[in-house]
Amino acid sequence: MSQTKILLDESEIPTHWYNVVADMPNPPAPVLGPNGQPVTPDQLAAIFPEALIEQEVSSERWIEIPQPVREIYKLWRPSPLFRAHRLEKALGTPAKIYYKNEGVSPAGSHKPNSAVAQAYYNKEAGITRLTTETGAGQWGSSISLAGQMFELEVRVFMVKISYHQKPFRRSMMQTWGATVIPSPSDQTEAGRQILAADPDSNGSLGIAISEAVEEAAARKDTSYTLGSVLNHVLLHQSIIGLEAKKQFEKVGDYPDIIFAPCGGGSNFGGVTFPFLADKAAGKAVRLVAVEPGSCPTLTRGHYAYDFGDAVGLTPLTKMYTLGHDFMPPGIHAGGLRYHGDSALVSQLYHEKLIEAVAVDQLPTFEAGVLFAQCEGVIPAPESNHAIRACIDEALRCKASGEPKTLFFNLTGHGHFDMAAYDRYFAGELDDYPLPQEAIDRALANLPKI
Ligand SMILES: *Cc1c(COP(=O)(O)O)cnc(C)c1O
Repeated sequence: MSQTKILLDESEIPTHWYNVVADMPNPPAPVLGPNGQPVTPDQLAAIFPEALIEQEVSSERWIEIPQPVREIYKLWRPSPLFRAHRLEKALGTPAKIYYKNEGVSPAGSHKPNSAVAQAYYNKEAGITRLTTETGAGQWGSSISLAGQMFELEVRVFMVKISYHQKPFRRSMMQTWGATVIPSPSDQTEAGRQILAADPDSNGSLGIAISEAVEEAAARKDTSYTLGSVLNHVLLHQSIIGLEAKKQFEKVGDYPDIIFAPCGGGSNFGGVTFPFLADKAAGKAVRLVAVEPGSCPTLTRGHYAYDFGDAVGLTPLTKMYTLGHDFMPPGIHAGGLRYHGDSALVSQLYHEKLIEAVAVDQLPTFEAGVLFAQCEGVIPAPESNHAIRACIDEALRCKASGEPKTLFFNLTGHGHFDMAAYDRYFAGELDDYPLPQEAIDRALANLPKI
């Protein structure tokens, strides 16, 4: 049997992130302010440090990874690339299946790749406090870890219902020194308004964003951080694909198709964009974003200008969207429930350089359990989406006899999601294919510009 774990040395951690904007056929659509005019970098300066704003608008192909960031990356990077020999055998497929395990980070997902970079640039800019919002807690725990590394105070506004339902994610954030505030809170004007109207509000991501942004905008020592969607987040995540390319080179292989779960698009962009550069140079590689059937942003949404948050506070971004007030059903892949998608992922999808598929909840858990039984790692429910799509392709290869090389991103482990697996085993999970009326209703509320 050929190699199982394909490892790189610490000295092979990439020295530069890759910026896909340099290889896009068209420049990114501008981000618009409330007046319909493009947002200028100085309008973002109230909540983000200059270095991150520069990255947000950069078209430089390579951006150097600062040495202190690479030092912290060494705690878990380079992450291993695995060949899933046992899964291949269980499926009886002639396809080769590889996966990159981003669950080896201390927080258990790919999100610290950007959290560490964001904390670094804020520290350099003299910022001492970071705010953010979190739902299920993956981003909140990643930025707490990163804040701890750079001695920054971190304040996480956590959706109140998750605060009570996910006590262990909250404990992780506290272990890494963060203050976790159930949202809506009495600490911001936005929170107080909601509480005045509804003292028992369960909270929502939209409300938590409003609280985190309000606090960052009001204080010079405080910045706001976001775990996905923005161009600079996708840039930082390119470390995944850059390492994977070196790892494939080591074993003399190259993927025919890459699968990644897609919520806001950060790990999808991170793992696939460095390969898109090869595609631009003529290589035949397919890049597939996998989303839930219950939140089918790319596959059934509209390509239009919309708000990034539920309340309508953010600038307008051209993206695939189900409408900013879209309420996804309560599926367990919390990281894939965003109504919109990254502007870069959206534009590349619109220009047909990348593909997307939607998969239903039950088949994703079935795929995750088979993967765990073959390969050992119990995947996060988000990751199960990529595994499902990859297994479906491997089964098509079995039918056609094609020995394709398939590669997916295992974005995280599922150790904090075992309640979801419990419900799957108890037969309590459902598929929630989205009725067309729900999409039509949400799209009717798109901002008119
Ligand atoms: C947040 C998250 C995702 C989805 O976020 P993207 O920004 O689309 O990458 C996927 N998997 C895991 C484990 C996550 O925590």
